[in-house]
Amino acid sequence: MTDTSFEALPLAAPLHRVLRELEYNTPSPIQAQAIPLLLQGRDLLGCAQTGTGKTASFALPILHAIHEQPKASHPRSCRTLVLAPTRELAIQVGKSFTTYGQHVRFKQTLIYGGVGQVPQVNAMRNGVDVLVATPGRLLDLIEQRHVDLSKVEFFVLDEVDRMLDMGFLRDVKKIVGMLPTKRQSLFFSATLAPNIVELARTILQNPAQVSIAPEATTAEKIQQQICFLDRDAKRHLLEQLLRGQANAKEQKLTIVFSRTKHGANKLAKSLCAAGFPADAIHGNKSQSQREKALDRFKKGLTPVLVATDVAARGVDVKDVGLVVNFDLPNEPEAYVHRIGRTARAGAEGRAVSFCSEDELEFLREIEKTIRMPIPRWDDHDWHQEALAERHGRGHRSSSNQGPRPNGGRRPQGGGRHRAGRGHR
Ligand code: AMP
Repeated sequence: MTDTSFEALPLAAPLHRVLRELEYNTPSPIQAQAIPLLLQGRDLLGCAQTGTGKTASFALPILHAIHEQPKASHPRSCRTLVLAPTRELAIQVGKSFTTYGQHVRFKQTLIYGGVGQVPQVNAMRNGVDVLVATPGRLLDLIEQRHVDLSKVEFFVLDEVDRMLDMGFLRDVKKIVGMLPTKRQSLFFSATLAPNIVELARTILQNPAQVSIAPEATTAEKIQQQICFLDRDAKRHLLEQLLRGQANAKEQKLTIVFSRTKHGANKLAKSLCAAGFPADAIHGNKSQSQREKALDRFKKGLTPVLVATDVAARGVDVKDVGLVVNFDLPNEPEAYVHRIGRTARAGAEGRAVSFCSEDELEFLREIEKTIRMPIPRWDDHDWHQEALAERHGRGHRSSSNQGPRPNGGRRPQGGGRHRAGRGHR
């Protein structure tokens, strides 16, 4: 946090009013840095993870411009285009505009795939001030001449790293090619790998650069732990963790990440059978199924959500206290995104990752990316010291823990979990 207050930022009165109502007292670091630059009309290259308040950092200056210079909308056009990699993120960003812009007169709509296009076409007919879209469906509608990008003044590319991971580079380039050259462009990514910087260069003009977390490091407030265990033991350790959550004084939500859709379904089912109300969200579920599951999760009716990477993108739930990587992601950046689901908006969070023999390579890549070893948590019934040692040998010069005579298994009663010795 910085010393700057929102009052000191030259935002229009309806925005100051909403910030007071939301009880946002202090701008987050990215807001404090980006908002003044954006109000001056600068292009921006922002390196920031989810949970840093980056949505408000671009939504507030854009809403300010819309409020200060209202314009009649042109048919099928938009003044602002925000591109997001997934529909969940698009919905989340749309909601943020609605929230922050509740005292500003403006029109907005969303365009994303997986649902019928007719309502989206109708919503665009008379034009909008803000359009939040995913690339694929947007291009479909442009090709059918339902959307025209020639009036875009503000262009935001959100979560670009993810966009590229999902194979949207060509679509993004095509969309950028349709934008007017005179525009203000904002580019946000959690990491700034060379291909991302290269893309930014082709989109931004003399951009100001704002970097919140150093490239690809994980949020500091998250307590991260890695557990070495057999694949078959994962379910048992997960249940132990969930028991701990259920018995905790303060009820918190848990997101469990699975690599596959099938795995997510199976796991949610087995958790329900074991007495832990759980839902699964993944790409095969319909939009309304996903929204219902998210809603039940947010209300705490099903306090456990089993998700795949794509489905969890943009899930913004304040009370997620625990993220479990049931499977390690094969893309190291996904780890950063996953654990960023907890410790949002200044809260504390814990992220426990399970690593079985077939995942040692993934763990190595993750630790390389976050530039630190993930602290071990060995103090559970299913710890496999041999695996931990193999990881240690391949990756670190020394392990904090000596071998155990019983091959790593140790008797332990109760459901309480403790951090491993020498770690948190
Ligand atoms: P984001 O990184 O944009 O996804 O925002 C993460 C969360 O922080 C959201 O739940 C926002 O509502 C919240 N938030 C954003 N800015 C502030 C702020 N200045 N003060 C308090 N909460 C904030």
